Amino acid sequence: MEREKLLAYIKPRMPQKRYDHTLGVAETAIELANLYGEDAEKAEIAAILHDLAKYEDEEEMRVIIRENGFDKRLIPWGAEILHGPIAAYRAKNELGIQDEDILNAMHYHTTGRVGMSHLEKIIYVADMTEPNRNFPGVERLREIARTDLHAGMRACISHNISFLVSAEIPIYPLSIECYNDIIGVEK
Ligand code: GDP
Ligand code: FE
Ligand code: FE
Repeated sequence: MEREKLLAYIKPRMPQKRYDHTLGVAETAIELANLYGEDAEKAEIAAILHDLAKYEDEEEMRVIIRENGFDKRLIPWGAEILHGPIAAYRAKNELGIQDEDILNAMHYHTTGRVGMSHLEKIIYVADMTEPNRNFPGVERLREIARTDLHAGMRACISHNISFLVSAEIPIYPLSIECYNDIIGVEK
């Protein structure tokens, strides 16, 4: 699907700052896809659409979650956790995106999950390291992401888990499962 059509779909759904972030994620995702031999067009589509539901009403999101067979664990969580799954739902149902890898990259872009595909890692890492991000440590994450995709994912999920713990923010189960999967659990 054409870039311009997707951009026209997301633009009215978010403030300018989020739109600029989205363009940054798309640029970074394309760059990482090319670097790691993945499909840059799929990366661009997933990146453009990943935050399309970020500003939707939480209760409306919850209705969609309840009525469409999503993981029940999502129900008590807020927009920060729900906007990825809802973005994938809308991309599929309103834009006709059928590619499961693109839909999964959108769905899991906030938490990650066990057994992430290359495209899913690209979107997760691009979301955190796009040019408009400026938190302490982001430059290190950018460098690692450009050296090794898996190491980039590892550094990004570790950074997120550390941040959530330091701020005493509850951690969604998939985030922890993703962290354990990437770091490796002792058998
Ligand atoms: P954004 O949509 O571009 O701002 O980025 P994300 O979708 O990656 O993250 C949205 C928010 O969710 C950020 O503030 C993250 O810190 C937060 N977040 C990520 N993982 C978790 C989690 O497991 N639990 C909670 N409560 N928040 C999380
Ligand atoms: Fe997001
Ligand atoms: Fe984002």
